[in-house]
Amino acid sequence: MSSEIIQAETFLKRAVEKLGLSQEVYELLKTPERVIQVKIPVRTNDGKVRTFVGWRSQHNSALGPYKGGIRYHPDVTMDEVIALSMIMTWKNALAGLPYGGGKGGVKVNPKELSKQELEQLTRQYVRGIARYIGPDIDIPAPDVYTDPQVMAWILDEFVNLKMGDIQFGVVTGKPTLLGGLDTRVKATGLGVALVTKLAAEKVLGQLEGSTVIVHGFGNVGQYAARILSSWGTKIVGVADSKSAVYNKNGIDVEKLAEIKKKTDNVGDYPEGTKLSNPDDVLKMNADIIIPASIADVINKQNASEIKAKIIVEGANSPTTVEAEDLLTRKGVVIIPDILANSGGVITSHIEWVNNRMGMWLKEQEAEQRLTEKMTENFKAVWSYWENKLSRQGSVRLAAYMIAVERVVNAMKLRGQI
Ligand code: GLU
Repeated sequence: MSSEIIQAETFLKRAVEKLGLSQEVYELLKTPERVIQVKIPVRTNDGKVRTFVGWRSQHNSALGPYKGGIRYHPDVTMDEVIALSMIMTWKNALAGLPYGGGKGGVKVNPKELSKQELEQLTRQYVRGIARYIGPDIDIPAPDVYTDPQVMAWILDEFVNLKMGDIQFGVVTGKPTLLGGLDTRVKATGLGVALVTKLAAEKVLGQLEGSTVIVHGFGNVGQYAARILSSWGTKIVGVADSKSAVYNKNGIDVEKLAEIKKKTDNVGDYPEGTKLSNPDDVLKMNADIIIPASIADVINKQNASEIKAKIIVEGANSPTTVEAEDLLTRKGVVIIPDILANSGGVITSHIEWVNNRMGMWLKEQEAEQRLTEKMTENFKAVWSYWENKLSRQGSVRLAAYMIAVERVVNAMKLRGQI
């Protein structure tokens, strides 16, 4: 079983038990409503046909159409996609969005494909899932290694299959010309930065002057690091999949982004210590760690050596259950993925509303709405954790309890429970 499934099920079970709900309700909540597997044949540039496999998991639709990204990654499994779709159900419920949870994945290393092959792969995947998606049914978005260009192909293929019926709201994270928002690209990173600020104010007194390590220098990590450094924090460590760099005097994030663009390796940053094992950066001194790469990076092997007081989960599922328990006992505050990285889907919702109204909200307004919503959601979770749980257990437990209760109440109202 994939570790994401173990995490998703364990965290759900704990919330269900704490809410006093039954084992039957737990079974009902953990089981996805539908999982689609599709075969994706791609004719590669050398004339051969390569066969890929992809999935779309539709976990729960009690609160609205399924919503969640599509990832392209060589290690994706069906179990992982199911677990991530479950996380989306709680993320969307916690954010107060009119969405259920879904997630898609294709087992592929997109870096090995040409642009043309990637387009073909995307179109074939859409052919497989088209009858199960739509603006009122299931709305995909970007995730690991997918971007606005991939979303534009999804839109185009969907419209082709629907005989020209242009429904911009079938997918979010699109380029601006096609109804997307510029803000969407930085939204997850901005949301992560916002909750980092709010958490730092609670735990450290203030954000300014604090030191931060970012694990993962893709879209989320880069924007979070940039924004936090412009807000007066010192980014002391950054890792990508190849290596890491640590400098207690601070790293120039803009310069690092330039190097990353050129060599695709943050370890090439000239000032500081290069760590050949990227995960070693997690053990270094800093007030805050932002895991913004893949799952399980904070685990029982490194949890006891972590010195940070706050962890903000930019990625989905970056902390294993054992690590969460150990760190929570030590008093480390973990701002869970379903709260910390919800800026992306919150902005997706604004895009979707724009598309359906045929009216484009200004970027500034979108950013302001994102800020208000993230702040409101953070406050709700923090106050639940402080007042209802008296800080017993993790912040994640509080976030899950709010989300699970909302979904259960919707299911009750609809007569499903
Ligand atoms: N893939 C992102 C996530 O995990 C965004 C999903 C969306 O915008 O629908 O939250």
